[in-house]
Amino acid sequence: MAQPDFDLVVAGAGGGVVGALRAAELGARVLLIDADEHFHRGNNTSMCTAMIPAPGTRWQQAAGVEDSREQFVADIMDKTHQTADATLADALAAVGAPLVTWLADSQGLEPELVREFRYPGHSADRCHTFTGRHGSHLLRHLVESARRQPNIELITPMRLIDVTSDGAQVQAAQIANPDGVVEEVSTPAVLLATNGYGANRDLVRTWMPEIADAHYHGGQYSLGDALRIGEALGGKTAFLDAYQGHAALSSRTQTLVGWATVLHGGIIVNSQGHRFAPESIGYSEFAALLAQQPGSTGWIVIDEHIADLCSVFEDFRTVAENGGVVSADSIEELAAKTSLPVDTLTDQVQTASRAASGAAPDPQGRNDSRHPLAPPYRAIQVMPALFHTQGGLVVDGSARVLDADDEPLRGLYASGGAAMGISGHGAAGYLAGNGLIAALGLAFLAAEDVASTLPT
Ligand SMILES: Cc1cc2nc3c(=O)[nH]c(=O)nc-3n(C[C@H](O)[C@H](O)[C@H](O)COP(=O)(O)OP(=O)(O)OC[C@H]3O[C@@H](n4cnc5c(N)ncnc54)[C@H](O)[C@@H]3O)c2cc1C
Repeated sequence: MAQPDFDLVVAGAGGGVVGALRAAELGARVLLIDADEHFHRGNNTSMCTAMIPAPGTRWQQAAGVEDSREQFVADIMDKTHQTADATLADALAAVGAPLVTWLADSQGLEPELVREFRYPGHSADRCHTFTGRHGSHLLRHLVESARRQPNIELITPMRLIDVTSDGAQVQAAQIANPDGVVEEVSTPAVLLATNGYGANRDLVRTWMPEIADAHYHGGQYSLGDALRIGEALGGKTAFLDAYQGHAALSSRTQTLVGWATVLHGGIIVNSQGHRFAPESIGYSEFAALLAQQPGSTGWIVIDEHIADLCSVFEDFRTVAENGGVVSADSIEELAAKTSLPVDTLTDQVQTASRAASGAAPDPQGRNDSRHPLAPPYRAIQVMPALFHTQGGLVVDGSARVLDADDEPLRGLYASGGAAMGISGHGAAGYLAGNGLIAALGLAFLAAEDVASTLPT
């Protein structure tokens, strides 16, 4: 075969950028494309909180945190009631430390280990994040690195519309510009890093009707292209009903309030002032419960102390700076400012505070350790949201797409929302960090597999 135009085509410049950078660093000639000209502020990676779970890192060791690949896999399997693919869970648990180390040592992104709270389902402090705790900084840094990397050609807007194979090996990628002009580039490998199908309302209604009417808070090009392209080549799919929901999106600013508000001790009441579920279950599954409440809305009630703790998050600061946080010295003032019934709100806050201090059981069965609320108070009106879908093409531990016989389709890879995740079914299996570890981790693994096949 004549030398192909590229050793690897990466479609999708979210988590896919990691795949492009790693492959290029290992000597591959890479074409990186994105359908969205404004991908760096419109895709999921740019919108995220930049929390990457990784066991066994040097940052954990320095902090004296005990953790292991096996412990992380056990947490993933517990959160999904043993339904996640154990092979993939193990591969992603294993790649966490090399990935975070590579981000630091190769890309100059110094991680910070999050110690002050722990997302539900994680048995150790293993979420690593970066300055600002926002994906836009992470992605911008990686994209700038990709632009400097001589082995990478980055073209946007350019959409992957098809991949051709001779039945044994990927041969080419069909890419189209916004005018519909189609170009074929020869390549033995394509990484589908195009995210899931959260922006495809028909597919969302088919697979996850409970969240179909909620606000979609993700990339507009998450239309399910990887599913269409991968299935046409014989790729198998799984967990298509899995998704990450979120119950803490500000109704006023439509930006993330952040679940740290709740983890520190905040409670969520509906528009009639009642709590309706234990907040300790997790933000993803809480979204559908919030969607069922009157008006599909509610309020996170916190206090000044928690608001101060959360100001380390850029997203929380954005909500506050745009008027999304109501301040009050007393519950009566808070009720007046939020139009919540004062008697109900008083009862709910006082009961929750007694439970948080251990003086009485929590009526909702909440079981996490938390700070009891005390004046002055803050409240943020929230609405449920769909962040991204978690099911997709079945992949092995090297991100290779598998066919119905579990054989790899040679040269076809999937990562992030394009691949089946490790979140089981529905919303409840989503463990915080499952999004990025699948997006960055699978892209990293795909790159290493592609590099291992390069002619020497
Ligand atoms: C507010 C928010 C906070 C989050 N916080 C976290 C967190 O802290 N930790 C965590 O693990 N996860 C988090 N997530 C989830 C995480 O952001 C996603 O799981 C992850 O970023 C998905 O990466 P991706 O590469 O699959 O998709 P994206 O980052 O969305 O990238 C896909 C790209 O593909 C492009 N594209 C689509 N179709 C085509 C095509 N046919 N051809 C070319 N390009 C195409 C799109 O334009 C897009 O740029 C969060 C999500 C949100 C919304």
